[in-house]
Amino acid sequence: MRIVFIGPPGAGKGTQAALVVGRYGIAHLSTGDMLRAARDAQTEIGKLADQYMSAGQLVPDDVILKIVQERLRSDDCRRGYLLDGFPRTLAQAEALDQMLAQEGTPLDVVLELRVPEEELFQRLSGRGRADDKPEVIRQRLVAYRQQTEPLLDYYQRRRLLQTIDGLGSVEEIFQRIQKVLDPLAKHSGPQIQ
Ligand code: ADP
Repeated sequence: MRIVFIGPPGAGKGTQAALVVGRYGIAHLSTGDMLRAARDAQTEIGKLADQYMSAGQLVPDDVILKIVQERLRSDDCRRGYLLDGFPRTLAQAEALDQMLAQEGTPLDVVLELRVPEEELFQRLSGRGRADDKPEVIRQRLVAYRQQTEPLLDYYQRRRLLQTIDGLGSVEEIFQRIQKVLDPLAKHSGPQIQ
């Protein structure tokens, strides 16, 4: 199963992503985690990415695309994957479509985790990551609204979008996600564990 997971910062994507990859036995590809690992390892890409991340801005498409393309080629992605935090711009979505079309491995579904903006700000303020300072949070929410929200329409037109209500307990939200994914998992790929 090949899944794209979209949602604003603070929506709880990371938590749900971990549950999803566990249940369906697929790889978890978080571009945020990849960039933070590159930053901590002080690689050239990591140092470059950090300049954008610490300002709450998106890292340039060409940098992200290189990282993702490489990762999608690894063996553990053959059984399927959950893309978490990618694509985040229309250019990234188009590039992803092209990559997948070339391989003959289209996406199965795009999940949107929807949470009202007031709630997001509150959740993020309590988290304490380096890019969770109020000005940076605000900038990340702006980046989401301006650059990532247009993807919802893009995937809606392709009949791939499924919106999940992101308010409630972790368990309740995961139940909603399973309702969408379980029927898809029956048709494609590995068995539910
Ligand atoms: P969040 O969803 O909470 O903002 P992430 O861990 O997904 O957190 O991303 C953290 C930062 O990494 C983003 O603010 C951005 O600077 C950078 N980043 C992650 N994924 C992408 C992407 N696909 N395109 C551009 N920048 C990205």
